[in-house]
Amino acid sequence: TLSDRLADTFKNLRGKGRLSEADIDATAREIRIALLEADVALPVVREFVAAVKERARGAEVSQALNPAQQVVKIVNDELVTILGGETRRLRYAKTGPTVIMLAGLQGAGKTTLAAKLALWLKEQGKSPLLVACDLQRPNAVNQLQVNGGRVGVPVFAPEPGNGVGDPVAVARASVEEAKRTLHDVVIVDTAGRLGVDADMMKQAADIRDAVQPDEVLFVVDAMIGQDAVTTAQAFLDGVGYDGVVLTKLDGDARGGAALSIVSLTGKPVIFASNGEKMTDFDLFHPDRMAGRILDMGDMLTLIEQAEKAFDADEAAKAAEKVASGDFTLDDFLQQMQQLRKLGSMSKLMGMLPGMGQFREQLANFDEREIDRIQAIIQSMTPGERADPKIIDGSRRSRIARGAGRTVSDVNQLIDRFGEAARMMRQLASGGGMPGMPGAPG
Ligand code: GDP
Ligand code: MG
Repeated sequence: TLSDRLADTFKNLRGKGRLSEADIDATAREIRIALLEADVALPVVREFVAAVKERARGAEVSQALNPAQQVVKIVNDELVTILGGETRRLRYAKTGPTVIMLAGLQGAGKTTLAAKLALWLKEQGKSPLLVACDLQRPNAVNQLQVNGGRVGVPVFAPEPGNGVGDPVAVARASVEEAKRTLHDVVIVDTAGRLGVDADMMKQAADIRDAVQPDEVLFVVDAMIGQDAVTTAQAFLDGVGYDGVVLTKLDGDARGGAALSIVSLTGKPVIFASNGEKMTDFDLFHPDRMAGRILDMGDMLTLIEQAEKAFDADEAAKAAEKVASGDFTLDDFLQQMQQLRKLGSMSKLMGMLPGMGQFREQLANFDEREIDRIQAIIQSMTPGERADPKIIDGSRRSRIARGAGRTVSDVNQLIDRFGEAARMMRQLASGGGMPGMPGAPG
C-alpha cells in the first residue's frame, strides 16, 4: 500500500522530521504509482501529484507525525478536497415536482439506481414516481416495474395513448401525472448503449429538453476504470449533467474513476451505489473514497491518534527528563508552548479528569508572556540553554540585548526556570504527576 511504501521511502528519515526536495520527489513517485494502480487517469495523476508536491514543500513540519504519515495526511486531505469535501445535497424544485433524470451507458446501473434512489427519497419523506423511458431494451420497462415493486414505489410506464415507443412523450406525460397524483419527485430512467453513441445522446438530450430536470445524474460503473473519463466527457458534451453517481462500489475497483471524473468535469459525485440490494446505496463520502483510492487501511486512524497523543507523549518525555535530572531551558520553553496550546483549549481541558487542578493557571494565562520567554530563551546559545549555570553577568546582558528585554527580565526567567526545575524534581521523586511547571502570570 501507499503507506507501506512511503514508510520505506522515509526509512532513513526517522526523527529528522523535515522533508527535503529529494524526499518530496521520492514521495511523489510513490503517490503517482498508487494513483495509477487505483486507475486514475494519467493527466489527473500528473495534476494531483504536482499539487501534493507543492503542499508538501510549503507544509509546516509536524511535531506529531513522522514524515511518511505527514505526507499521507497531505495526500489524503488533498484527495478529500478534490472529491468534494462535504457531500453535495440533492437540489429540489421550489415549486412542482422535482425532476431527476438518470443518464449513462447500458449496464451502468441506472435502472437499479432509480429504485434505490426512490427508496432513499421515500425514507426522506418524499413521494417519488419512477418513470420508464428506456424503451430500447425489450425487458427494461418490466425491470423497472419489478424494482419499483421491491421498494413500493409506483412506475409510470408507457401504455396505449401514453406515448408508446416515444420516450420523450413518456417523460413529458410523467411530469403531468406526478402533478396530478401529488408525487413530489420524478425519477426518469433512460436508455443507454454499450458504448457512446450519437443516437443515444440525442434521445437523452431530447428527454432533458422536454422535462427540464432539476438534476441530471450521470450514472457510471466504478469498475470501468480508465474508460470512465472518456464516457464522462462524452455525456457531459452530449447531455450535460449536474452530478455523478458511482455504482458497483461493492466490487474491487479502487475508485480512481471518482477522482478522474471529478477532476476533469468539475461535477460532484453525489451518491454511491454498492450492491444488488435496494438498500446498498448512500450519499457519497469523499473521505471514505479517499481512503479507498489510497488503500490506506488504518493509516489515517493512526495519524489521527498520533496527533491526539502528541501532547501526552511530550509530557511523558518531559517527566523522564526531569527524573533523570536533565531538564533544560529548551524543555522549559517547550512546556511553555505546550501550555499555551492548552490555554487556548482551557475550557475543554477543564472538563478532562485530572486537569481541574490546572484550571486556575489556565484561566490566568497570558500568551504574550510566552512570547517574551521565547524571545529570551532563543537569544541563548545551545550551551546556555542546556546548562543555565554558565550564564554569567556578561552573558545576561548579551541575551537581554538580543531579546530586546532588560537584564532583570533575563534574571527573572532564569530564577523561574530554577524554581520550576526544582519543583519538578520534587514532584518526580514524590511520584506525583510532573506536569506544567511555573505557569506565568
Ligand atoms: P442500466 O443498464 O444502466 O439500467 O443498469 P442496470 O440497473 O440494469 O444494472 C446492470 C447490472 O448491474 C444488473 O445486473 C444490476 O443488478 C447490476 N448492478 C447495478 N448496480 C449495482 C451495484 O451497485 N453493485 C453490483 N454488484 N451490481 C449492480
Ligand atoms: Mg436500465
